[in-house]
Amino acid sequence: MITPLMPNYARSELAFERGEGCWLVTADGRRVLDFGAGIAVNVLGHAHPHLVEALTEQAKKVWHVSNLHNVPDAERLAKRLIDATFADSVLFCNSGAEANEGAIKMARKFHASRGEENRYRIVTFEGAFHGRTLATIAAGGQKKYLEGFGPKVEGFDQVPFGDRKALEALIGADTAALMIEPVQGEGGLREVPTEELRYLRDLCDRHGMLLIFDEVQTGVGRTGKLFAYEWAGVAPDIMSIAKGIGGGFPLGAVLAVEKCAAVFTPGTHGTTFGGNPLAMAVGNAVLDVVLAPGFLEDVQRKSLLFKQKLAGLVDQHPKVFDQVRGAGLLTGLKCVLPNGDVTAELRKENLLVVPAGDNVIRLIPPLNVSDAEIDIAVGMLDKAARNLEVTLVRGAAE
Ligand SMILES: *Cc1c(COP(=O)(O)O)cnc(C)c1O
Repeated sequence: MITPLMPNYARSELAFERGEGCWLVTADGRRVLDFGAGIAVNVLGHAHPHLVEALTEQAKKVWHVSNLHNVPDAERLAKRLIDATFADSVLFCNSGAEANEGAIKMARKFHASRGEENRYRIVTFEGAFHGRTLATIAAGGQKKYLEGFGPKVEGFDQVPFGDRKALEALIGADTAALMIEPVQGEGGLREVPTEELRYLRDLCDRHGMLLIFDEVQTGVGRTGKLFAYEWAGVAPDIMSIAKGIGGGFPLGAVLAVEKCAAVFTPGTHGTTFGGNPLAMAVGNAVLDVVLAPGFLEDVQRKSLLFKQKLAGLVDQHPKVFDQVRGAGLLTGLKCVLPNGDVTAELRKENLLVVPAGDNVIRLIPPLNVSDAEIDIAVGMLDKAARNLEVTLVRGAAE
């Protein structure tokens, strides 16, 4: 018989009643250390007092008015994002896929508005993940997400990661934009080297193409800068964000330079819920903390500490872990054993992690994780690896 919730997720056995910082607690009092952060969403952990206050205070005033009217906190959040980035204008929405849909539509409209209606193709990269709507599964190009959903939305071309020859061969008069994650999240924490991002910027400029960065996972401090592109010193024309900006409240946004944003004239694009007062209150509260002096520097410091300890684990457990991956606190371990088995074993030790492609486990704690919590997580990783090694020895003996 069908379950009340549709069977499209393989959920763990855990259910949580509440959260406290980096910890989640089940109804029967089991405490679990959350190094998954709701898939890089809870940047300030659970039940952060400043976010709780922002949301509850707003909840007493007004929840939703639609985009038929002004939302002063939306204007305020947009201005803060503009001041902190390359962008000149911001569109709010509700999720990462929706932000990418907005970015894709904007790139196409940009060229159409200049009389180039046929210039709509977008180059993306193999292993990319841009969401689960019809257009964003076409953008990601992964067979496992496309299969069974009818014809793939036209206009997306994938190239292998780092293959400049294939990329340049693909670009034609109909290429509108290039879309990339500065660090592939779901794809297995593969970093795009700085010189590659600079090359892509230059390539786009030479061909009059737009550069779109998908910072849905890398954004809002995850890599130790507010946005990952800052490390490379190259800015996109359009950027999608989501996950971290709401700290757990559904919120996404498209950031863009003026010439791109200007094509979204009244009526061209929209969303009912996007930028509603509840989401805006939380988004502003997230920025209050993430942009406070010293916060991002501390993320950088902690990520170095964590990476050193992870490298030690790889040395100690070569039959379990293969390599440290990632940037900032978008950290992970490429595994030798299947990453699903490692994830399940870690759950037994009360550590939550998130599997990714390329047999990687993501260790993506709240950005306000403490040094002590990092130590606890490393201890749990060590214990789980020992347990798995015992199983391996037993398996070999049988
Ligand atoms: C999670 C993610 C998305 C999709 O976001 P949703 O909110 O699930 O729609 C898109 N791009 C990247 C890089 C992501 O990590």
